[in-house]
Amino acid sequence: MKHEFIKALENNDLPEMKKIPKSDLHNHATRGGNKRYIGKYYGITIPKHPKFNNLHEMNQWNSQNIKPFIKGRAGYKKRIEAAFVQAKNDGVKVLDMCFEIGEVSEFGGSVERMVQALKSLHNTFAPNVTFIPGIALGSYYPMDEMSRGLEEFLAQDYFKSLDIYGEEEDALKFKSLFRKAKDKGLILKAHVGEFGSAELVQRAVEELELNQVQHGIAAANSKSIMRWLSDNKIILNVCPTSNVYLSRVEDYNVHPIKILYDNGVKVTVNTDDMIIFDASVSEEFFNLYNAGIFAAEELNEIRENGLRAGI
Ligand SMILES: [Zn+2]
Repeated sequence: MKHEFIKALENNDLPEMKKIPKSDLHNHATRGGNKRYIGKYYGITIPKHPKFNNLHEMNQWNSQNIKPFIKGRAGYKKRIEAAFVQAKNDGVKVLDMCFEIGEVSEFGGSVERMVQALKSLHNTFAPNVTFIPGIALGSYYPMDEMSRGLEEFLAQDYFKSLDIYGEEEDALKFKSLFRKAKDKGLILKAHVGEFGSAELVQRAVEELELNQVQHGIAAANSKSIMRWLSDNKIILNVCPTSNVYLSRVEDYNVHPIKILYDNGVKVTVNTDDMIIFDASVSEEFFNLYNAGIFAAEELNEIRENGLRAGI
């Protein structure tokens, strides 16, 4: 597939690029769908996102332009359906999507019913996509609530990864929960180094025993931490468009993913919140290639990193 991938990049050929196997390992399931798919179903047009100065602005925009139209359990399932359809249509073969503990409220608090719904949606809309269902904790929720929720999710023997988002520093408080998930053999990840420092990336990886980091781009500020991440084979699931539109990075042509790659850190390319940022995995590869920071062969190596990382 290397040859086809390089040819598709060089020819700016999106239909061909969609046929080539890719991964998406940083995908917040409820925000993983294509906004035109969702818009068509609800008879609305979701506008183009502006550039946000921070997460708060993004959440506000989401609350005004998307959330009011997609309601209840049916709306929840439509969002997940859209995410599976998006992955399938974009040639994503390995998909790690995370589900927040609180989303179980859409199923009357029954994790079992939630899992049944996820299995059915996967089988119906993307049966050929290798699906890695993930659990997401919010670091600003009370520990006991997250702990109880995690127990219930783990009891299903269905979820295969654990992630945490929110205040990056607060994630470290959830060490005991990560240990529980590790004992069950889950892939461990955390959102860190998007807003926080390189040092925090290393601390989170050490203390939470992470296999992968969501974003982690701040690591590019430290040569020694990049070497450490490389030596320990930690994977950084980077989302270039999210970083640009959340004002973490000025533009694609100065994105630190290139520095991370050049320093031997294993990186992958992902969507984060497709329904907001509207850039598929295929388009993310074009954005990086057209910015002139990567050779096509290098991007192919990044594509292969992702296909290997998820399994
Ligand atoms: Zn994220």
